[in-house]
Amino acid sequence: MHISDSKKTIATIGAGISGLSATAYAAQAGNEVHVYEKHPQRGRRARQFATENGYVFDMGPSWYWLPDIIDNFFLDFGHKASDFYDLTSLSPQFEMVFEDGLLTGPECTSPNR
Ligand SMILES: Cc1cc2nc3c(=O)[nH]c(=O)nc-3n(C[C@H](O)[C@H](O)[C@H](O)COP(=O)(O)OP(=O)(O)OC[C@H]3O[C@@H](n4cnc5c(N)ncnc54)[C@H](O)[C@@H]3O)c2cc1C
Repeated sequence: MHISDSKKTIATIGAGISGLSATAYAAQAGNEVHVYEKHPQRGRRARQFATENGYVFDMGPSWYWLPDIIDNFFLDFGHKASDFYDLTSLSPQFEMVFEDGLLTGPECTSPNR
C-alpha cells in the first residue's frame, strides 16, 4: 500500500472559512481531521455577533464575491448553495445611517442569482 493511500490524521489550525473548507475536503478524502481553534466561536472573520435581545450582526463579509467558487464547494459535497440559503440582490447595495443623514451605496448591476 502506498503511504498516499492510507488514512492520515490531520490537524487543521483555525476554524475560519479556509480551515473549515480544507477540513471538509480532507475528511471527504477519508482522513481523520481535528480542528483546533483558539477562539470559542468558529467562523472568525465571517462570524456573527448576536445580542441578548436577539439582534444579529455579521462581523465580516457583506458582499457575496466569487459565487462560482462557493457553488463549486457545495457541488463537491453533493449540495447546492440554495439547499442552505437564498440569495437576494439588494439595490442599493447598502445604506449607512449617520446622525445627520443617509449615505446610499451603488445600485446593484448584476441580475438576481
Ligand atoms: C470587516 C470585514 C469585512 C469583510 N467583507 C468581505 C466581503 O464583503 N466579502 C468577502 O468575500 N470577504 C469579506 N471579508 C473577508 C473574509 O471575511 C475573509 O477573507 C475570510 O473570512 C477569512 O477566512 P480565513 O479562514 O482565511 O481566516 P479567519 O477567518 O481569520 O480564520 C482564521 C482562524 O484561525 C484561528 N487561528 C489563528 N491562529 C491560530 C492558532 N495558533 N491556534 C488556533 N487557532 C488559530 C483564528 O482564531 C481564526 O478563527 C471581510 C472581512 C472583514 C474582517
